[in-house]
Amino acid sequence: MPTTVPALVAPAPGAKFERSSIARRDVGEHDVLIDIAYAGICHSDIHQIREEWGASIFPMVPGHEIAGVVSAVGPGVTRYAVGDRVGVGCFVDSCRECEHCLSGDDQYCLKGNVATYNGKDYSGEVTYGGYSTAVVVDENYVLGIPEGIALDEAAPLLCAGITTWSPLKHWNAGPGMKVAVVGMGGLGHMAVKLAAALGAEVTVLSQTLSKEEDGRRFGAAHYVATSDRAAFKELRGTFDLIINTVSADIKVNAFLGLLRLDGTLVFVGAPENAQSFNVFSLLGGRRSLAGSAIGSIRETQEMLDFCAEHGIGAEVETISADQVDAAYDRVVDSQVRYRFVIDTATIPAP
Ligand code: NAP
Ligand code: ZN
Ligand code: ZN
Repeated sequence: MPTTVPALVAPAPGAKFERSSIARRDVGEHDVLIDIAYAGICHSDIHQIREEWGASIFPMVPGHEIAGVVSAVGPGVTRYAVGDRVGVGCFVDSCRECEHCLSGDDQYCLKGNVATYNGKDYSGEVTYGGYSTAVVVDENYVLGIPEGIALDEAAPLLCAGITTWSPLKHWNAGPGMKVAVVGMGGLGHMAVKLAAALGAEVTVLSQTLSKEEDGRRFGAAHYVATSDRAAFKELRGTFDLIINTVSADIKVNAFLGLLRLDGTLVFVGAPENAQSFNVFSLLGGRRSLAGSAIGSIRETQEMLDFCAEHGIGAEVETISADQVDAAYDRVVDSQVRYRFVIDTATIPAP
């Protein structure tokens, strides 16, 4: 019999959360039951609840930045044992046999991976995410959280961390490379920390200088307000790689102009609207415009291990279940420092 667990449920697009409950499947042969301790709030949760990316499935339980502890395992599980500290990110299954799954790029599964929430698994069951007290996940899609990273600071690594790590690694961020990070919210602050730890020279391009001190503490060498036209202009032709984490429209041509020869502007931010650019912005410096989605399971474990080695965690503000609606408004207003995580112990009705 499936188990019923407390969850924060959004009944309809844009609706406020309700304390309710959802069913989780039985722990199968290769499944791990996880007691969730913290769930991060990603801007993607907001895009999907507000249907900014198209139709979503309701009722919805968002949350794909999950950190907790294993409380039961199926008989065939070999990777994890009861008591292990684990995480779950943006997908909980993939086909395991397509070209991309076999090459270790399972985030780009050709059949389409199974999203942690607002998706359907391969048997057609709707998936529910981490704003809940427990989840059942196949062990192959569960990550080990190394000792040394607190669970609250680890949760955001499962999306914000991996989504910025993957393009940084793909485009070889490291010593001798100038990397700019546009927008310093959840993803942006992780991009700064990770790029700096990889040895790149990092510049933050934020709307204002209000977070400069933090940016430098995260490892940025330079911090520029995009509203300062003169300072922005001076950066023309500077960067090898720009990671754009902005959740809204950006002036694509202006940022392409900041790339040096063969530089790349990568979108990880996923705004609602189509973006436009002038082809001549690419031609001039043989520049590239690219996108990147989350990261593979293999890369996610690599990133978590790297974070433990370098003492990196997310900067978090822990909130209770009744603060989530207000937190969403603060995220949309760029008032987050730098990731809200829900203490899931506050989800069951008092
Ligand atoms: P976030 O915490 O809200 O951060 C976004 C940042 O963008 C803000 O902190 C702000 O930084 C800047 N910004 C916001 N509105 C802006 C505007 N109107 N003009 C200019 N800058 C603005 O969001 P997040 O959770 O990091 O997510 C960022 C985006 O990445 C979202 O669209 C999300 O859906 C997407 N995402 C994509 C993937 C993927 O796989 N590609 C994975 C996760 C998330 P400043 O105040 O510093 O300017
Ligand atoms: Zn996310
Ligand atoms: Zn596949």
